[in-house]
Amino acid sequence: GNPLFASGGITIFEVMNELAQKYQAINLGQGAPDTDGPADIREAAAKATMELSNQYPPLAGVPELLQAVADHNKRFYGIEVDPKKEVLVAVGATEGLADVILGLVAPGDEVILIEPLYDSYLPMVKLAGGIPKLVRVTPPHWELPREELAAAFSEKTKLILINSPQNPCSKVYGDDELQFIADLCIKHDVIALCDEVYEHIVFDGRKHKPLMTFPGMHERTVRIGSAGKTFSLTGWKIGYITACAKLMEPIKKAHQFLVFTVPPALQHGVAYGLNKDDEYFETFTAEMQAKRDFLMKGLKEVGFDVLDSQGTYFITCDFRPLGYDCDDVEFCQIMIKEAGVVAIPVSAFYQGEDGGVRHFVRFCFCKQEEKMAAAIERMKKAF
Ligand code: PMP
Ligand code: GLN
Repeated sequence: GNPLFASGGITIFEVMNELAQKYQAINLGQGAPDTDGPADIREAAAKATMELSNQYPPLAGVPELLQAVADHNKRFYGIEVDPKKEVLVAVGATEGLADVILGLVAPGDEVILIEPLYDSYLPMVKLAGGIPKLVRVTPPHWELPREELAAAFSEKTKLILINSPQNPCSKVYGDDELQFIADLCIKHDVIALCDEVYEHIVFDGRKHKPLMTFPGMHERTVRIGSAGKTFSLTGWKIGYITACAKLMEPIKKAHQFLVFTVPPALQHGVAYGLNKDDEYFETFTAEMQAKRDFLMKGLKEVGFDVLDSQGTYFITCDFRPLGYDCDDVEFCQIMIKEAGVVAIPVSAFYQGEDGGVRHFVRFCFCKQEEKMAAAIERMKKAF
């Protein structure tokens, strides 16, 4: 097969899901809620299946969803876009990322990626023929190494990919850091691809601020959201891309040959969801924060060194205080077998040549409290 895929393994999330099944372990690994999103959104999709067309919708998406994405951008961030030309619906953020990377990166272009990184980024950059330039943030503070980042920009840089809130480290980029990135993009004439799937999962009174809203950035930023995260409907795989018309054109051209269109009924469901009142979004954020607090307290009681979680579904912990000095993959195996709990080794998100961070694991908290409580009890017993 293509060495790009054949030389790698199956994604860590799938591997851990299989182990969870095999050992009947409680799965706090993959970022997927264990309860489905709002019934009214699901009903809107069901109704659309029965009452509206189930044939190929327009390439960019159904007009109702394009409008809803534009309205959501305006309501939450003051971003104004033309829904007809500047929004594209994709099969999840994952296909959206592929559309943007394949559409905008030409062979030989350099792409700056910040580790830890979501697993699809690097393969897509390589598939496009891009040259990845990895810059790393590391625990416990995940601070942006500014000099190193500035040095990663060159004449060949086409794109920088920013994921804030960032999976798995739960970092929300501050205004200051975003301004620093914006300045570099403007100085070097670089496009920013912003994976903002966790835009509504930010904690402690923080507000998500898209890089697209920074002066001079609107025309050079592509923003991606996901209904999977915002409405706890990960299986639907509906993502949405916002970009100025000039950038959107080549992105659409990649999309047309990857999937062409996205199931219309689900798009109608998501349009209904994005139009929900502010209360839905506020309640969702508050519920996620309560779950974070619940799991964080438990993990501290187990004895982990628990790092800050500013956003996303995740908490990262250093397991060394439990008396283990092995690497994170081994620790996860031990935890599955001895405690019956699944987490994700953070090294899986570091794909640079010289290995990564080795003593940290990621727990997911978009789960029912009883399940998290049971996992905590198991870990307390085992460790
Ligand atoms: N980006 C990040 C940072 C993610 O964590 C995920 C995983 N859910 C995705 C993209 C993919 O989102 P989707 O399921 O909408 O494809
Ligand atoms: N984004 C999810 C996570 O980080 C997983 C999505 C996937 O399985 N590819 O857990």
